[in-house]
Amino acid sequence: MATKLEKEKYRKIAELGCSLCRHQGQEGTPAELHHIRRNLPRNLAPVIPLCPYHHRGSNTSIHGMGRKRFEQEYGITEEQLLAQTESLLGE
Ligand SMILES: [Zn+2]
Ligand SMILES: [Zn+2]
Repeated sequence: MATKLEKEKYRKIAELGCSLCRHQGQEGTPAELHHIRRNLPRNLAPVIPLCPYHHRGSNTSIHGMGRKRFEQEYGITEEQLLAQTESLLGE
């Protein structure tokens, strides 16, 4: 179960809108949360906002294409999207 603080943080992250759409110049696309895989319990994994198209679309998303192809296709890495997200959150 997420703590109140975690829920608050997740809400703020989702409210930023899709981080990849933002990278492409479009801000505020409604987003869901993508957990970045680390050797950590899921509740400690960093999250980034991605719209459904960039999160789950069959040939357009990080899950549909896999991280490597996704990063090649869009010219930005998951870690760079995380850095962008953290800087927008002021962290
Ligand atoms: Zn997007
Ligand atoms: Zn995901």
